[in-house]
Amino acid sequence: MTEVRICHLYPNHMNIYGDRGNISVLTKRLHWRGYSSSVTNIGIGDKFVPDDFDLCYLGGGQDKDQNLIAVDLAEKAPAIRSAADDGIAFLWVCGGIQLAGKRYLDASGSELLGVGILDLETIAGTERLIGDIAIRSCVDGAEFTVVGYENHIGQTYLGSDSRPLGKVLHGFGNNSFDQVEGAVQQRVIGTYLHGPLLPKNPELADLILTWALAHRTSESISLEKLDDDFAIHAHQRAVARAGLKR
Ligand code: GLN
Repeated sequence: MTEVRICHLYPNHMNIYGDRGNISVLTKRLHWRGYSSSVTNIGIGDKFVPDDFDLCYLGGGQDKDQNLIAVDLAEKAPAIRSAADDGIAFLWVCGGIQLAGKRYLDASGSELLGVGILDLETIAGTERLIGDIAIRSCVDGAEFTVVGYENHIGQTYLGSDSRPLGKVLHGFGNNSFDQVEGAVQQRVIGTYLHGPLLPKNPELADLILTWALAHRTSESISLEKLDDDFAIHAHQRAVARAGLKR
């Protein structure tokens, strides 16, 4: 039975808005299809070994949480970059997308170095960007809507090597100007969407799982459809709450 090996980075520090729920969705959607999975928590002082994983997850956190892990994350950065170059799937959420870039200049003015797996930088703005959000994504030729909740002071600006995860249909997105949200580069996805994100967005969950399985098996995988009625219902309620047509 193929096992997908998931690294959960700093689960005790970076888990604002129940982002741990994303791990449950990833493991369950693997098990429902006959795959096995392992989840390894990697915290401060733990070694990150790229060859041990197929998927790396980092949840969101307040500025203080990001400061607490920043030095340790910088020490892990070379190994994390080589994991991205090796085609591991990454899902880094909110505080995660900020630390996936070059740097995050936080609200207190301290500059946190990012690991550099997404070509972007983040600078704290003057207003907190909060609320329901919906975006239209097109990744690997698949088009779908992604819904969630955002709450960040950081304003993120993409460089030329990363492309947006989607176009903002409702909400703020990366900043208050360019109407795009998130970032995609190699098999790395960064996004501001909390909720947790994946229970209401099965298509995005499966995209990430196909990347992780492709890394594990060196084959391109198409996952069998699941009965996603509950997830689709929750997704459609969130779309409606964002004032969009179902
Ligand atoms: N601390 C960061 C900000 O405020 C990220 C917040 C989060 O992860 N929700 O922009």
